[in-house]
Parts: sequence; C-alpha cells; structure tokens
Amino acid sequence: MDQVTTGLGVAHRHAVGTLTWAQSNVALLQVGLVLVTAALVLWAILFSNYPLVHDTFHELRHSLYFVPCH
Ligand SMILES: [Zn+2]
Repeated sequence: MDQVTTGLGVAHRHAVGTLTWAQSNVALLQVGLVLVTAALVLWAILFSNYPLVHDTFHELRHSLYFVPCH
C-alpha cells in the first residue's frame, strides 16, 4: 500500500514533478516579493535622503561613481 494521505506526502509528490497552477502562482508571488524587497533595500541604500540611512551608507555611495550624492 503506497497511498499517501498526508498533505506533506502530496506536496512532496508535486515537488518532484511539475508544479500545480496554485503552486506556481505561490512561487511567482514569492519571487515577486523577493524582487520588490531587494529593490526597496537597494533604493534605500543608494538613493534615500533620510539622514540616518544616507550617512550610514555615504562611503558606499561615493565608492559607486554612478550614484549622485552631492
Ligand atoms: Zn556624498
């Protein structure tokens, strides 16, 4: 008897095969969230004028010649 009745077993079987429609949507959402978060962090480090963030990463900004600072 190799019948899998737990959610974990079903998820594992899908993981080794193709993703279901819902699973691929979740994966797309996760990739999108990671990209948006990375973009926000990069923007905050490189372009934010908030003094605490600006002063903390000031040397880094100057070491990257393409970032306008002052
Ligand atoms: Zn500067």
